[in-house]
Amino acid sequence: MKRLALSEYVAGIKNHDRTILGRAITLIESKNVSDRLLAQKLITEILPLTGNSFRLGITGAPGVGKSTFIDGFGSHILSQGKKLAVLAIDPSSKVSGGSILGDKTRMESLANDKRAFIRPSPAGDSLGGVAQNTLETLLLCEAAGFDFVIVETVGVGQSETIVKDITDYMMFLTISGAGDELQGIKRGIMEMIDMVVINKSDQVSEKELSRLISNINYALHLFPAKDSNFTVGAFTCSALNKTGFDSIYEELEKYKSKTEALGYFKENRNNQQKAWFRRLTETKILEYYLNNTELQKLISDFEKDILSLKVGPMEAAQSILDFIKK
Ligand code: GDP
Repeated sequence: MKRLALSEYVAGIKNHDRTILGRAITLIESKNVSDRLLAQKLITEILPLTGNSFRLGITGAPGVGKSTFIDGFGSHILSQGKKLAVLAIDPSSKVSGGSILGDKTRMESLANDKRAFIRPSPAGDSLGGVAQNTLETLLLCEAAGFDFVIVETVGVGQSETIVKDITDYMMFLTISGAGDELQGIKRGIMEMIDMVVINKSDQVSEKELSRLISNINYALHLFPAKDSNFTVGAFTCSALNKTGFDSIYEELEKYKSKTEALGYFKENRNNQQKAWFRRLTETKILEYYLNNTELQKLISDFEKDILSLKVGPMEAAQSILDFIKK
């Protein structure tokens, strides 16, 4: 597809033009060097228009009902007068060659609603690359006027950490049964989430639901208080029957207004931005040095010396640093 001029992308995004937004996202995902340069200029141009959405991360194992939930809860968000963008980080998309998350066919009501924008997982060589693309897509969506952004991921590997690093609030979707709700806690996910939602409440008795909620609340209670000063709450819903959305939405509103008033909301975003910048800088510096052939040779020479016990790894590492500093 033909590339637009920078001013055309900027104007289109300012005018909330969805076609141009889609093309701008394609631009930031491009691996072409000149596209990358233009994409970075575009991001810098639109930065003043960003920051005005509530960024909600949603994670949960496949099958718990994430897409059904996002479709239903997303429509609830739209009914509150918001414009919603749905993005996804899918660690398996590279392998499968296609995204299983953020798929339009899985979210039919949203896909047919002009106030919603769904973008499947970006392709990327690394999870870091995917994360960078998702963050930039999120910024473009904010600049284009979407004031609620959902970033979805499957509960696998590092993808949850990435979603946590770019969102304001993490929701963990689970279902009753198979000890799922407590397994999540074991996997250490509880430290990073702000809310547990037990979906498919239609399949469970009231008694079972309240047992679950007290189990979860008990488990959550064992974790130290969050920096946000908010207690992680357990909620129930049936994404299929569209019940339980009201209280979940109210909790999100309450979180946003309280943490904004206390300054935590902004502080968290500032910390995320600083961490992101540092990670990028470190990656760039590392790339720069590792592409240096002289340095590469030195490292492989030292590897041999280490294996033949001529030098210890620490001394070798120090020599490499001394070489770089020269
Ligand atoms: P995902 O893999 O987490 O995105 O899960 P899906 O949204 O694709 O849902 C998996 C299956 O669970 C589908 O057959 C849904 O229809 C079903 N499902 C989702 N939410 C509910 C619910 O609240 N109640 C019931 N009974 N089924 C649900």
